[in-house]
Amino acid sequence: MPRPAAPRSSPQRPAPSGPLPPLLRELWRVSHAALAEAGALAFPVPCVGCGEPPAMLCARCRIELRPAVCLRVLEPGLHVWSGLPFAGVPARAIRALKSESRTPLARALAPALGEALDTAWHAAVTPGAAGPLLVPIPTSAASWRRRGVRVVELVMRRAGAPRARMLRHARRVADQRALGRAERGRNVAGSMRCDELGGASVLLVDDVVTTGATLVEASRAVVAAGGRVLGAVTVASTPRVFEPTPIRA
Ligand SMILES: [Zn+2]
Repeated sequence: MPRPAAPRSSPQRPAPSGPLPPLLRELWRVSHAALAEAGALAFPVPCVGCGEPPAMLCARCRIELRPAVCLRVLEPGLHVWSGLPFAGVPARAIRALKSESRTPLARALAPALGEALDTAWHAAVTPGAAGPLLVPIPTSAASWRRRGVRVVELVMRRAGAPRARMLRHARRVADQRALGRAERGRNVAGSMRCDELGGASVLLVDDVVTTGATLVEASRAVVAAGGRVLGAVTVASTPRVFEPTPIRA
């Protein structure tokens, strides 16, 4: 898959620095601005939610990204707080951020992650105790090459959440999207390694929880490194019943 395309226009392009007379310099500036504007009109960016131009996310769809925190408990008793349902506009926005590297959407999704983090913090952290490390699920090397962005870390940054990059992949895993529940668990089992935590408490952070196999594996790695998992937080959560996504070759 190709790397993300470069922006279509560059309105910040500097004016020529040569010895242009002031009038010619001003003419150049005005004509360049007009060309950039014409480019924007010729290539309007459709809304990722409803497909209508001219905004990447229109006001109506932005409302659909208002936080609606829900809690799921994964099988080993791991609590996961999520800011949005992975459906409709939120799902389209997250897919556009992940698959098309539309990074400005991270800012629109940040309130949902922030609200889920706040809720998890109040529910899982003992008052007066030291705050947990917020540990993002690592981006695989293949995703990094394909997208050029660490999605979960970008949304965390936009939400103002400090990141403790303690987890890493110990081996390659297959793309989870095409796998069923049991296959996902087998695919990621033993795939992560964590830096030594010395008893520190941790909230895991990911973009989407589907079956929870990735979070369960991350939790195992944190415990193996001497950490204590208070729970996990994600931008969005899929419905409990899910179908594997067919992936085009
Ligand atoms: Zn829209």
